[in-house]
Amino acid sequence: MPRILLLLPTTTYRTAAFLGAARKLGAEVVVASEQANVFQEAQPGRLLSLDFLRPDEAARKVVEFATMRPIDAVIGVDDATTVLAAKLSAALSLPHNSVASAAAARDKHQMRTLLSRDGVPVPPHVLRSFDDNRVAEACRVVFPCVVKRLMLSASRGVIRADDEAQFVGAVRRLEAILRTPEAAADGEAARQLLIEGFVPGREVALEGLLVKGELHVLALFDKPDPLDGPFFEETIYVTPSRLPAPVQVEIASFAARAAQALGARDGPVHAELRVNRHGPWVIEVAARSIGGLCSRTLRFGTGLSLEELILRHALGMEIPSLQRELQAAGVMMVPIPRAGVLKEVRGQAEARTVPGIEEIAITAHPGQDLVPLPEGASYPGFIFARAESPERVEAALREAHRRLEFIIMPPRADRGAV
Ligand code: ADP
Repeated sequence: MPRILLLLPTTTYRTAAFLGAARKLGAEVVVASEQANVFQEAQPGRLLSLDFLRPDEAARKVVEFATMRPIDAVIGVDDATTVLAAKLSAALSLPHNSVASAAAARDKHQMRTLLSRDGVPVPPHVLRSFDDNRVAEACRVVFPCVVKRLMLSASRGVIRADDEAQFVGAVRRLEAILRTPEAAADGEAARQLLIEGFVPGREVALEGLLVKGELHVLALFDKPDPLDGPFFEETIYVTPSRLPAPVQVEIASFAARAAQALGARDGPVHAELRVNRHGPWVIEVAARSIGGLCSRTLRFGTGLSLEELILRHALGMEIPSLQRELQAAGVMMVPIPRAGVLKEVRGQAEARTVPGIEEIAITAHPGQDLVPLPEGASYPGFIFARAESPERVEAALREAHRRLEFIIMPPRADRGAV
């Protein structure tokens, strides 16, 4: 029975999908997490606590563990664990992307540098430190611009500014986000910000699998809602794309060139691109699979999940098909209606009866603080649809969402004052 080491950050949506895939493949899973687990003693060979911020120490611990229980693949389930997965794989001599390529994919500035060096179109950009008094001068870069930090994900701390006043406000806001302990853990990178030209256009997300350096496109998602800022909250993803076939081919080739420029050769790729009259621009390419619960939209061959493909590839097992099913599919990452404390979500039963709707997954729990972008990073839930055309999928998602009603109490800090 093959054995997989799954690196699970403290907060991730991806656990169930990967555990389910491993079960279907008959693989044993060892879960590595950052916090010592109360079940660790009961299941000594199945749980491992590692300090994700100390990769060398983590590698020593994993190598020692593997002498007793050999590991066949290390999987970092999302952004926060891809570099460590590469490092642990190298320590165990398992085939995997290099640590350098995983690190480059995690650092937005390094990514931009490598991509533009290889002629892949990326937004014009400049790196600045918060301690640098030239930050204000950088606004002489053309407006509109986008400020972001190097290592956050899920559009957290990504802010558009159209003039100098907005720019100064955006930098202040980003700096406050960076003071959170979680962000500060990135050390020097937490003191830096990237200022980019705003690229107008339609946005798509490409999900792919690299096999020995060759990118296989698993799905191309349109994002039908305009993402023009000032914050970039994801909402609807629908596949297949409705863009003309030649544009889709161009997008795939740019994503492949971007992965190659990073030096990524194997495993999942998630890329965000914008398309305008100049063609596609790569906004981001990450050596991981799609985030949140969104992979539930994808089924391949005879019903394999995205995570089964990823695990099969990592274990060197045969992959029966990389072909997505013929039906259109989509997901809505439910936007946070406003900041506050979630009381309940009404209308779920009504939303489920919309034709084409497969699932309404409310992931926020009553009492949870809802924090919108740019400070927040999670969605209160996901809506999934499948139908014969992308148009129908999009319409079903919008109708189901219209039927949901979020009952939200004022944010905790405000309540006493009311
Ligand atoms: P994250 O890794 O946090 O998702 P990204 O750099 O991918 O950060 O940015 C998140 C979103 O912000 C993108 O999907 C895009 O919609 C928008 N965005 C980021 N940079 C730009 C840019 N230079 N021009 C236009 N939109 C951008």
